[in-house]
Amino acid sequence: IQAFPDAEKRVLLLKPRGFCAGVVRAIDIVRIALETFGAPIYVRKEIVHNRFVVNELAEKGAIFVDDIDDVPSGMRVIYSAHGVSPAVRERSKERKLKVIDATCPLVTKVHVEAVKFAKQGYSLVLIGHRDHDEIEGTLGEAPDVTQVVSSAEEVESLVVPDPERVAYLTQTTLSLDEARDIITALKARFPKIAGPHSQDICYATENRQVAVKNVAHEADLVLVVGSDNSSNSNRLVEVSRNLSTRSHLIENSSSIQPEWLEGVKTVVLTAGASAPEVLVEDVVNYLRQKGFGSVEEVEVMPENVRFGLPPEIVQAIAAAP
Ligand code: SF4
Repeated sequence: IQAFPDAEKRVLLLKPRGFCAGVVRAIDIVRIALETFGAPIYVRKEIVHNRFVVNELAEKGAIFVDDIDDVPSGMRVIYSAHGVSPAVRERSKERKLKVIDATCPLVTKVHVEAVKFAKQGYSLVLIGHRDHDEIEGTLGEAPDVTQVVSSAEEVESLVVPDPERVAYLTQTTLSLDEARDIITALKARFPKIAGPHSQDICYATENRQVAVKNVAHEADLVLVVGSDNSSNSNRLVEVSRNLSTRSHLIENSSSIQPEWLEGVKTVVLTAGASAPEVLVEDVVNYLRQKGFGSVEEVEVMPENVRFGLPPEIVQAIAAAP
């Protein structure tokens, strides 16, 4: 039964939200590869952490595998936006795979920093979540000298050969507040610690968190569209909850439990960097049906970042008839 729109019940749609430049680029790479080379195209791991996106590309002929050894020898494989370790690159060479690299350039930046610090003899502290694909890749650049920490408490138990020669790096999709607390703990323990020239947390992660922080106080409920394995989406829920605003991560409108909306006048809606706009529209339509008559976009800051395609894809486009 469709409820009558209630002018008092509103949705504030945050901007920027949803796809970042790295995700747009990664999805474009798979689409163009399928169009120019034809199916099947293998993709190592989820190209981006969103179930809808992965299913859509799988329907078009992409085959997602967890391990590079699951790709038949000599076939074409795309590395996901989260990046890979040198061991994966080496194994791809051994198996004569045709590689297309969809690693986000901002993840590559962290890999380059890891290599640089390791060559200079630093012990590395990588701030991030151990089970995330990105950390697996970055850790692989210098596994013998890198330790992963996920909380300020873990900093206490770090053991390094030379406390004067320690450097830190971070995952690109962390909570800004949590990363700051961990970096503060590291600086207290290792006063001479080195770090990246500019922060590793990427612009898209930062902008979506800042947008939530700016507007969450207006909300009775913050809904974040994103898959449960999406790091930056989970962080948006945490940012809201840390501001004492109720918040849930939703895959799409069917994840919404009707009781969440009881007594709610203002829903703030956003989406993680891997969540497509079509799912946001689905949620807006659902909320309209539930009587949220006013939908207003709130632009907290402009965002106009674009990344170029990798050479393998540019050449394929140029060679296409
Ligand atoms: Fe790149 Fe950031 Fe997007 Fe990850 S969230 S793909 S690091 S721009």
